[in-house]
Amino acid sequence: MIIYEPIMLAMPLAEKIKDQILQEKEIPDGESLRKILVSLGLEEVCLGRGLALFRSKYVLALLIPSAKYITVDVFSSSGDLSDALQLMMYYDKTLNAYIVDIIPANDLEFEGNIGLEPVIIDAETFELKSIPVLGYFEKENGDIFLVISEKTYDAWKESGKLEVCPVCGADGLVWQKDVAYCSSCGFGVKVVKK
Ligand SMILES: [Zn+2]
Repeated sequence: MIIYEPIMLAMPLAEKIKDQILQEKEIPDGESLRKILVSLGLEEVCLGRGLALFRSKYVLALLIPSAKYITVDVFSSSGDLSDALQLMMYYDKTLNAYIVDIIPANDLEFEGNIGLEPVIIDAETFELKSIPVLGYFEKENGDIFLVISEKTYDAWKESGKLEVCPVCGADGLVWQKDVAYCSSCGFGVKVVKK
């Protein structure tokens, strides 16, 4: 797994949080989130009153738990906020569901949209109610791919939106067997068959 920019942390982070909620049937607390961030290769550099700062070579992540929301702000370690993202996790009363969403921290400067469907998990049955296309990033022959599982691919295929890039939301993914390329954001998508 590689993390060169905020989206490359936000997507695998959202996926791990989704898996944890589905498995543990509860929303992760600050401590679980710290473990998840460390498992993604980040180092905890500062901790105080529930707030925690993590870093890897290229990104910083600020974990801010509060009573209603847990947010993880992810930004480039250069301090540039143009591609910064905020991962939000909360309980939605109307939907009676837990939501994990990734939104651009800076709407004005962010280039394009994030083509992700938020994670929506029923708060009673703990079933996944949406089709988030999440995975982690890897580099191969100079190209960077979002690597997704076969299970994620199958659900995505069923949704009929296989031509929409899960990273930037552009309409025009070109598939060649198990690999797709997006000419808008430059990321590829690769399905790992298990
Ligand atoms: Zn794209």
